[in-house]
Amino acid sequence: METLVVDHPLVAHKLTTLRDVRTDSPTFRRLADELVTLLAYEATRDVRTTDVTVSTPVAEAHGVRMARPYPLVVPILRAGLGMLDGMTRLLPTAEVGFLGMIRNESTLQAETYATRLPEDLSGRQCFVVDPMLATGGTLAAAVQFLFDRGAQDVTAICLLAAPEGLAHMDEVFAGSGKPIRVVTAALDERLNENGYIVPGLGDAGDRLYGVV
Ligand code: URA
Repeated sequence: METLVVDHPLVAHKLTTLRDVRTDSPTFRRLADELVTLLAYEATRDVRTTDVTVSTPVAEAHGVRMARPYPLVVPILRAGLGMLDGMTRLLPTAEVGFLGMIRNESTLQAETYATRLPEDLSGRQCFVVDPMLATGGTLAAAVQFLFDRGAQDVTAICLLAAPEGLAHMDEVFAGSGKPIRVVTAALDERLNENGYIVPGLGDAGDRLYGVV
C-alpha cells in the first residue's frame, strides 16, 4: 500500500481551520470541500487517459481525454458525502457509488448498512472518500468490498489519518498484491481510547452535519 501525505501550505492552512473547535458547520463544509479538491488533484495523478487529437483554430494538437470506463467515486456514508462535491468538481465524468458503513462504537468494527454500486467493477479505478482514517476497519472493509466486485485499483482520500489505521490497512492487504493508495492531508499522532484521532478534528460527521 502506498501512502501520500500531501505537503502543501494551502492544505495545511485549510486543515488547521478545519481542526479548530470554533469553526462552525458551514465553514467546516466549505473547507472540507476545498481540501478534498486539493487532495484529489494528487490522488488522480495516475488516472487513466487515452490519446486524442483535436483541432485548434490554428492546427492539430495532441492531447488526452479520460479513458473509459470512467472512475468510480465512492463516498462512505455519512461523513464521506461532505467530500463528494469536491471530488466530482475535479472528475465530472466520474460515476458515483454509495457505501453506507458505520462503526459500531462498542466493538469499533465496521458494519455495512447500505450499498448502491455497480455489480461489476472490472477495470474500474475507484476513489473512496472518507474524512477520517481512524482504526482503518471501515476503510479496509470498503476497499475489500470494491476489490470483491473486480475494482482494478483503489485510492482512498482521507482528510486525516492515524498511524493505527494505516498499519491496519497494511496488515489486511499485505501480500494481496492489490494496488491501494491512501492520500491524506495529515498523519496525526494516534487514536485515543474512544477511537478518535488525536489531535484530529472531532467527529467529522457531526461537524459537517450536526449531531443526530
Ligand atoms: N471518526 C471521526 O469522525 N473522527 C475521529 O477522530 C475518528 C473517527
